[in-house]
Amino acid sequence: MQLKFTEKQQQFRQQVRTWLAENKPKQRLKSYDTKEGFEQHRAWEKVLFDARYSMVMWPEHLGGRGCDLIEWLIFEEEYYAADAPMRVNQNGQLLLGPTLMEFGTQEQKQRFLPRMAASEDMWAQGWSEPNAGSDMAAIRSKAIRDGDEYVISGQKTWSTRATFADWTFGLFRSDPESSRHHGLSYIMVPLDAPGVTIRPIKALNGKDAFAEIFFDEVRVPVENRIGDEGQGWKVAMATAGFERGLLLRSPARFQQPAKKLVELYKQHQQQGDLDPSIRNDVLECWNLAQSYALSAYYTVGRLQNGEQIGAESSINKVIWSELDLKIHETAMRILGPRAELLHDAPFAYSDHDWLEGFLFAQAGPIYAGTNEIQRNIIAERLLNLPR
Ligand SMILES: Cc1cc2nc3c(=O)[nH]c(=O)nc-3n(C[C@H](O)[C@H](O)[C@H](O)COP(=O)(O)OP(=O)(O)OC[C@H]3O[C@@H](n4cnc5c(N)ncnc54)[C@H](O)[C@@H]3O)c2cc1C
Repeated sequence: MQLKFTEKQQQFRQQVRTWLAENKPKQRLKSYDTKEGFEQHRAWEKVLFDARYSMVMWPEHLGGRGCDLIEWLIFEEEYYAADAPMRVNQNGQLLLGPTLMEFGTQEQKQRFLPRMAASEDMWAQGWSEPNAGSDMAAIRSKAIRDGDEYVISGQKTWSTRATFADWTFGLFRSDPESSRHHGLSYIMVPLDAPGVTIRPIKALNGKDAFAEIFFDEVRVPVENRIGDEGQGWKVAMATAGFERGLLLRSPARFQQPAKKLVELYKQHQQQGDLDPSIRNDVLECWNLAQSYALSAYYTVGRLQNGEQIGAESSINKVIWSELDLKIHETAMRILGPRAELLHDAPFAYSDHDWLEGFLFAQAGPIYAGTNEIQRNIIAERLLNLPR
């Protein structure tokens, strides 16, 4: 593989860098797991959208720039290098968006995608249920057809930021006699519809990061279904591929903290009291982050040549989630007891929010399909090992 950027790609990088330097919020935004922070992030998404930087890969008529995957990687590198705010509408923009592009009708694409790119609609993912997490085919929430509407009843859980979102997309059993992955439909539901109740679930840091969503005979029009009735599993598997593949977690998201980890190590090394084994961990994190970036460029090259990565996306998922954990665990070891201070506490280490990142990294091996399940997929589908 030869990694050389064209003149046009370099110009794009420079253009993104300059724009971010001029437009990035001057003040750190509040956490998007709070009402106020969520709205601040929504406003920032609108600034990105107005400059057509919200969804750079989407076509121009949907508010994007028609960039290819390499330009997207470049955009991500610049975005994270600039320390710009975390993106808040990823469930919509990165999971539902590509799903709608593949399975949505023209009317659905036109109705939902530009508003999603502008974050006028913020989306929550309504898949997990109390007894259907890893075993998603055990879903029990129902969507029963009544003329031109579905009547939805049931419960979803662990919906990230559903407390503040406008819409959810979920899988519902539209054939009440069906079982497992048959008879499911993929439906979009407005969260302000009569019969929807949202109960926030607090995360480790006390913020309303998740919610349970209860549906009590909620009526939605049939046009809100994506794909054919009863074919929701097929559509959901496409969404899962986007979730585990490259788009949700670009390498830049980990290269930047890995770089900061090296800086953190250098600062603390002068004190001479660091456990020598930490050095190896720092090096390993940095190397892994660079390897993930190189492998992403390789994968993008393959995709641009028309190849598909399929089950290989599970390898990505395991790598990025474990790398994120390792980076933050190593930072916590370097900082020692100070690591546990919240960002706004007196004497907190102020250059980077290592504790917040550490808490969030705990979830990486769980969300987007647990790493145990991803390892099963890798064993069965890529290594052909017996079940
Ligand atoms: C930060 C975060 C955000 C999330 N956001 C959302 C969201 O927005 N929307 C949404 O719908 N869901 C969301 N989830 C839920 C997430 O998708 C589920 O937690 C996950 O799929 C696991 O399901 P579960 O919690 O029911 O655990 P279980 O399925 O009960 O699994 C418990 C443990 O058993 C293991 N296990 C289960 N089956 C097997 C098997 N066959 N082989 C080996 N090991 C197995 C699992 O790997 C896990 O370690 C989120 C979760 C987290 C942590």
